[in-house]
Amino acid sequence: MTSVTVRVPAKVNLQLSVGPPRDDGYHDLVNVFHAVSLFDEVTASGGPGGASTVAVEGESAGAVPLDGENLAVKAAHALAARAGRPLGARLLIRKAIPVAGGMAGGSADAAAALVACNELWGLGLSTRELMEIGADLGSDVPFALLGGTAVGTGRGEKLAPVAAAGRFHWVFALAEGGLSTAKVYAECDRLREAIGEQAGWPQPAELLMGALAAGDAQTLGKALVNDLQPAALMLCRPLARTLAAGRERGALGALVSGSGPTCAFLVESEAQASDLSIALDLSGVCRSLVTAYGPVPGATIVPAQR
Ligand code: ATP
Repeated sequence: MTSVTVRVPAKVNLQLSVGPPRDDGYHDLVNVFHAVSLFDEVTASGGPGGASTVAVEGESAGAVPLDGENLAVKAAHALAARAGRPLGARLLIRKAIPVAGGMAGGSADAAAALVACNELWGLGLSTRELMEIGADLGSDVPFALLGGTAVGTGRGEKLAPVAAAGRFHWVFALAEGGLSTAKVYAECDRLREAIGEQAGWPQPAELLMGALAAGDAQTLGKALVNDLQPAALMLCRPLARTLAAGRERGALGALVSGSGPTCAFLVESEAQASDLSIALDLSGVCRSLVTAYGPVPGATIVPAQR
């Protein structure tokens, strides 16, 4: 095999409940991940033994590191280390997921690189084994391998799949620039301290779980929750206007995706996603818009073209 291409989805958090900071600097979370049809693609081809290299094309490609800091390169190196062999690959990432946008694009690329290199190098590791390697690379990597809808606990890496009926339709408003996940968590802690709020132990929300099981978009829209949202809005003030614009134009629910600054709007149908996307584009409240649906599978090998 000379090259392997893997398609990997972005995620939106339907519930992101953040507990108090832990001694290791992370927070205990209840993180309901939902994989949506906005995909990066990673192609791995035979490379120099022992080292992997990367090139990046597409959405905000210039903001992605091209050295050993690239999460896809880290993933390839971690997999080679696990195999105990001097393996290398040339990686090409085609980005559609916004960089530092709160949709776990870097983690998605790491997951795709694990699947692509596992196949290219003929290692035969299971998805479970790749998820274990992925958890050391980043809390969101195991979910990008699994896809669908899942509850993450711990720092988000302990995953349990959630049955979701039907298909949910989304509009994503991409912002200028990105937000640092670490800074958004720090701002969340600062805001809580400033108002004397004690973070409780996070729990999966029953209303949200029921809405997912029933495929009930109306109820899901009301149940969407993100504890990081006030912090993201503090660090990026224009997002409040973006969220309000979507609500005023009929979104069933609106929230900042993960640590932001991408805003996510849940709507009733594909046609409504298209209408809301056009309306938000005309209102000028964001850089660009994409429509998508979920849930979709995690990192998947694209069959080679004949
Ligand atoms: P999350 O939602 O997991 O907090 P995010 O979507 O906000 O993450 P990413 O797109 O994953 O953010 O990027 C975070 C940082 O990771 C970027 O600023 C970039 O420097 C770095 N990075 C490393 N590898 C990649 C990659 N393959 N794609 C995008 N960013 C990467």
